[in-house]
Amino acid sequence: MDGSTPDLLLAELKRLQAAHARGAPPYVDRVADLKRLRAAVKAKAEDIVAATSADFGRRSRHETLLSDVMTVLHDIDYTLKNLKRWMKPRRVATGWQFLPGRSEIRYQPVGVVGIISPWNYPVNLALMPLVAALAAGNRAMIKPSELTPRTSDLLKSLLADVFPSDKVSVVLGGPEIAAQFSALPFDHLFFTGSTAVGRIVMQAAAKNLTPVTLELGGKSPAIIAPDYPVATAAARLVAGKFLNAGQTCIAPDYILAPSEQIPALTAAIEKELRERYPSLQSSADYTTVATDRHFARLQNMVAEAQAGGAQIIEVNPAKETLDPARRILPPTLVLNPPAQSKLMSEEIFGPILPILPYRSLDEAIRYVNEHDRPLALYHFDLDSERTRRVLDSTIAGGVTVNDCVLHIAQSALPFGGIGPSGIGHYHGHHGFLTFSKQKPVFYQARFSSLSLLKPPYRGFADKLIAFLTR
Ligand code: NAD
Repeated sequence: MDGSTPDLLLAELKRLQAAHARGAPPYVDRVADLKRLRAAVKAKAEDIVAATSADFGRRSRHETLLSDVMTVLHDIDYTLKNLKRWMKPRRVATGWQFLPGRSEIRYQPVGVVGIISPWNYPVNLALMPLVAALAAGNRAMIKPSELTPRTSDLLKSLLADVFPSDKVSVVLGGPEIAAQFSALPFDHLFFTGSTAVGRIVMQAAAKNLTPVTLELGGKSPAIIAPDYPVATAAARLVAGKFLNAGQTCIAPDYILAPSEQIPALTAAIEKELRERYPSLQSSADYTTVATDRHFARLQNMVAEAQAGGAQIIEVNPAKETLDPARRILPPTLVLNPPAQSKLMSEEIFGPILPILPYRSLDEAIRYVNEHDRPLALYHFDLDSERTRRVLDSTIAGGVTVNDCVLHIAQSALPFGGIGPSGIGHYHGHHGFLTFSKQKPVFYQARFSSLSLLKPPYRGFADKLIAFLTR
């Protein structure tokens, strides 16, 4: 729907809630919905590539296909494979005192789910929560990002082709509409975006006691252990950091490396970057920064760090003069950034990689723990004892050991942050559970031993209570 006002938005929600009240879809309908969504996404893959690229200015076709198309198709496949099992009521243990009664957990759709999504993976981050919401039997209203208008239009028409308008509805608009949207009394509100907006969304949801899942951002560290092979670390860090030009919530934000290893690591990262992006101007694989505002913010971060004494290494192999209007920001390594700079206090979300020295692993762990709990943490280490120490003594939304980003691709792992980096989880079964009421049910048996326990309490009751409280 367009031209929204708070009243129109509320009417839209009521329409979906009324449809939900007619009954939760059975397994076969959910499967049919997911299969139709899968077919539509597959059929529109090239349109998705074109729309996201036009929105960004230039976006790697391969990275769009991998991160915005394949991920969604795989998530649907994984869900289809497991949904029947997930939906089955689960028998759980019953206390012996209550036998022969029995207990089970039933999975019930919560109703109508609101989904607010960001611009950086505009298809993935709208459709992955939708898949989980539909699998759990819900209906959904989606508010995609205003910063990727072509992709948001495409999502709207794709979803309108697949679903009746009282099952999935797309609301277009900027922050004002988004604020009205998050104030609606949804049965669950799923937000992906910045920590600052996440705070506002949670406040809006609190007024309705709407449960929230917040998938937020933050500064995700990568710790390199002293004897870890530098070339391997460099290749994997570059892959994780410069995917989508660093505009990835779980991109390594900064590196913590042993002081003596920094020259070799920096050289290895530069080498990787030169090989991957020989020409920034013409490489179709090097994504641009999505908006002028983000471009200016990133440039200012680097300028401020430089003014504060940091060493800046811009990797521009063909020494091209880049037109700022195209928003191609060269991969930039930053050594010795000032601790108080924006670069080291805000999420970077772009192709800039600070490298910080540490003297002991404890110092690196302390640095991580003195900052907000990150969305992701990366540890490169061949020593399992040391790895265990890092895992046990830091807390983060998710971890990949000896690589970057890949924990997000494991369907069986929950995905989500902790504290400032998010609340709640999704992906696979975890998403199904997020959008389900896990309804506990106790079935009393024909004969109940508890019926003997009743006033006036004497004799048998005294003995029974003495036994139960022994
Ligand atoms: P953003 O918070 O600016 O916007 C996200 C969405 O919120 C957009 O749809 C926007 O319209 C909406 N919005 C804006 N103002 C709002 C308000 N007052 N009330 C309700 N909604 C409002 O984020 P962004 O710039 O689009 O995305 C980048 C951020 O998202 C980064 O911080 C990144 O780390 C984070 N992110 C997190 C994940 C994750 O899975 N945890 C994934 C991608 C991005």
